Amino acid sequence: MAVPYPRYRSACGWNAILPPRAPRTAPPPPGRIDSIVIGAGYAGLAAARRLAELRPDEQVLILESGQVGENASGRNAGLIVSVPHNFPASVGASAGSRPPQFEIFAEGMERFAGQVRELGIECGWNPADKLYAAATTDGEAALARNMANYARWKVGFKPLGREALRARIGTDYYRSGFASGQNVYVQPAALVRGLADTLPANVWLMEESPVLALTGDGPYVLRTEQGEFRAPRVILANNGFAKSLGFLRSRLVTIFTYAGLTPVLPAEELAKLGAPGEWGVLPAARLGTTLRRTGDGRMLVRSAYSYEHEASIEAMATMLSSLYRARYPAMASHGFEHVWGGATALTRNGAAYFGELRPGLFSAAGCNGSGILKNSVNGRLLAELALDHRSPALEKTLALTGPNWMPPEPFRRLAAMTAIRYQARRAGAER
Ligand SMILES: Cc1cc2nc3c(=O)[nH]c(=O)nc-3n(C[C@H](O)[C@H](O)[C@H](O)COP(=O)(O)OP(=O)(O)OC[C@H]3O[C@@H](n4cnc5c(N)ncnc54)[C@H](O)[C@@H]3O)c2cc1C
Repeated sequence: MAVPYPRYRSACGWNAILPPRAPRTAPPPPGRIDSIVIGAGYAGLAAARRLAELRPDEQVLILESGQVGENASGRNAGLIVSVPHNFPASVGASAGSRPPQFEIFAEGMERFAGQVRELGIECGWNPADKLYAAATTDGEAALARNMANYARWKVGFKPLGREALRARIGTDYYRSGFASGQNVYVQPAALVRGLADTLPANVWLMEESPVLALTGDGPYVLRTEQGEFRAPRVILANNGFAKSLGFLRSRLVTIFTYAGLTPVLPAEELAKLGAPGEWGVLPAARLGTTLRRTGDGRMLVRSAYSYEHEASIEAMATMLSSLYRARYPAMASHGFEHVWGGATALTRNGAAYFGELRPGLFSAAGCNGSGILKNSVNGRLLAELALDHRSPALEKTLALTGPNWMPPEPFRRLAAMTAIRYQARRAGAER
């Protein structure tokens, strides 16, 4: 049976370029633990912070299987979007209506910005346009639908033709696209480390401490190699790995996706990448490629998906490098300093799970991408649900549709692999 936590073959590039950080591995001092959070990603850290804020006299323990910064929360492309691209299902919109989560996400973004400022987290927080670009006629049709939705939902955007895109990103690979705000660029490993290293005093973080089993029915018993921990309240914030502990098995799949980060490029190479400054391009197709030029002059390429297991990093490096070369044939090199994979959780209908699984046991899982903000918001609201602290955002989130049923293995793998292959073929040059 698979281990119930992520064990990556590759180090996270964003984390590797930061100064080393010592993980916090010490067990908590003896005494009562009121809540245990499994996972120190955006969801778990937000949940723990909110639990601690609402109940300053209670003790919260976070059990994290790896090191903060090495998790998916540190492994992503670092675009925090408050209007997710994978709508409408994931945001609960019915055709034509403004999705109920827009206000929740917009408020979440403001809260995030305030937190980063107040806690002094240095993560390159940079609110700037994100771009969408299409390389195929199908991709253009998809972006046209997105723009029509944006117009209906009164979300600002600016269409861009081939020339305008070339001026911004230095390639004429794409036929057209659009620019839109509602986006912040970050160094994700710096952000998640910063959040973990500024937790309130009544939160204890224990890294390198995977939860191997969860039993009981309140108090719950969590088995780790360092011993057992008990608490009446447990928050599962381990995204797709909730399944491996026996929960949401018929709702989630774990999908890995891959990123490569170049060294800081010399000035003459950077000049080939369009206008100066930070930018990011999101794909028009579901299985397309994300590009990002960082503030310090690196390029990041993110693409490809694999089902439940991390693929060979060498194969992914070759593939990412060929995607980079196709977009920027004039660059001197298409090599990466770091290539890595990261786990994310998808559901069949694109809706996240949010709620109480059993009395005292809560989960927010199945981010379907764009999870930096979504899961930060959901983690925070999950703490409010656990403490019955009712807020309008919580009520709205509870009213959203949840993930629908997935067939068991081996049919699930077959369906997922067929969908990945089909979407990859359909993506064509968007890959
Ligand atoms: C390459 C890549 C690019 C991406 N790009 C973006 C992007 O640009 N923007 C965006 O918004 N999203 C992006 N995402 C998705 C984003 O990273 C996730 O949605 C986000 O990290 C989800 O946060 P989380 O806290 O729910 O889960 P995670 O970050 O996965 O955190 C869960 C934590 O639980 C821990 N854990 C798991 N099992 C156990 C266990 N048994 N015991 C203890 N701990 C356990 C894990 O180690 C992990 O730290 C990307 C993802 C990848 C992989």
